[in-house]
Amino acid sequence: MDERAIAWNVAQIKRLLSPGTRLMIAVKANGYGHGALHVVHAALLGGATDFGVASVEEAMQLRTEGVTAPILVLGAVTPSGVTKAAEYGISVAMTHDWRTDKQYLSSKHPVRVHIKVETGMSRLGVSPHAVPDLVRWIESQPNFLLEGIFTHLACADAPTTDHSQRQVDVFEQVLAEIKSQGLRLPSVHVANSAGAIRNANWHYDMVRVGVAAYGYRPSREVDVPFLLRPALGLYGMVTRVIELSPGQTVSYGATYTATSVMRVATVPVGYADGYPRILSNQATVLLGERRVPVVGTVCMDQLMIDVSTVPETRVGDTVTLYGPKAPAVWNMRELEARAADESSQIDWITRTFAEATPRFSVGENEADVGWQAYISLDNIAAQAGTISYELMCALSTRIPRLYVKA
Ligand SMILES: *Cc1c(COP(=O)(O)O)cnc(C)c1O
Repeated sequence: MDERAIAWNVAQIKRLLSPGTRLMIAVKANGYGHGALHVVHAALLGGATDFGVASVEEAMQLRTEGVTAPILVLGAVTPSGVTKAAEYGISVAMTHDWRTDKQYLSSKHPVRVHIKVETGMSRLGVSPHAVPDLVRWIESQPNFLLEGIFTHLACADAPTTDHSQRQVDVFEQVLAEIKSQGLRLPSVHVANSAGAIRNANWHYDMVRVGVAAYGYRPSREVDVPFLLRPALGLYGMVTRVIELSPGQTVSYGATYTATSVMRVATVPVGYADGYPRILSNQATVLLGERRVPVVGTVCMDQLMIDVSTVPETRVGDTVTLYGPKAPAVWNMRELEARAADESSQIDWITRTFAEATPRFSVGENEADVGWQAYISLDNIAAQAGTISYELMCALSTRIPRLYVKA
């Protein structure tokens, strides 16, 4: 994972915002699979001010690791979750009216809350009409600190913005009602990546950005006015190369049959690593700069590729499954020859990656990107019938993570 890419993307998003607008980066699900602490570090360099997570556990993990920036739990929390969050100085979303359950009110530490308003996602949130009374009540509670009020757009990445605008209209009415009752309006936030990129009217006091920080478009519908740098890559080294004769088949179910003499290489990445099985006989990977197809069924721990067009392929060569192409020097022979122990191997891998995909700064354009060949997670996700988000989060814990420092 390239922390520099995250810092870059966050800095570009920051440039879209008015000075003073806060920038929350969503780091739930271990930073969309990237490693939450590394994402936080890089995002702070890029100008992030706040972080969003899904659960109190995720937030506490970051606090324990030393993150002092504001953290908001975006999902629903239990009464004991509220108590824990308060203890750790973590803000929580009030996704329903807590007054019905006295257990929610027992924290000894100040509870920092953002009221979540249901405006059309039908997932979480207080009904619009109930919000002003709830605001008044929270403000009257010495142990509660009303920090924010927010809603979430269901269709910010859709071809049209009608649905989003209807949600914003409902939300605006709630804000107007709060003000007309003479109540204080806390920090207001609405937009995810798509909303933040598409419409500055939806920025309010803060935006909550996830996918764009990781370098991917929210959807094909959203035009991004700057270059996004994908932060993650998934790589594997060839473990075997064989020649097949016509009629021989590949992998479980024999779903691929050689029609002529061909060369097949094995790569130790499978669906248990988060590489979807539905990509069997569908996806392509990179060998050097060349695209080669996945052949046969993707196994739990391995997959096979057709390397007939790259006859020089040897055991130990690096295959790019997602992201920027692997540096030319990445192969087991170079690795073993240059690096004696594991930590110097990691140094070598990250240094050669950093050299192959150089840093570039604000003002440079797409032509300056250090990689011409890369496997777009968007394309792979489309082939797998899903979205980039799901593939990022699917990367399993057994994959060793390497980080290029920002
Ligand atoms: C995850 C999340 C976001 C970020 O969404 P992206 O589409 O990744 O930008 C924003 N708001 C809420 C409530 C979220 O759960």
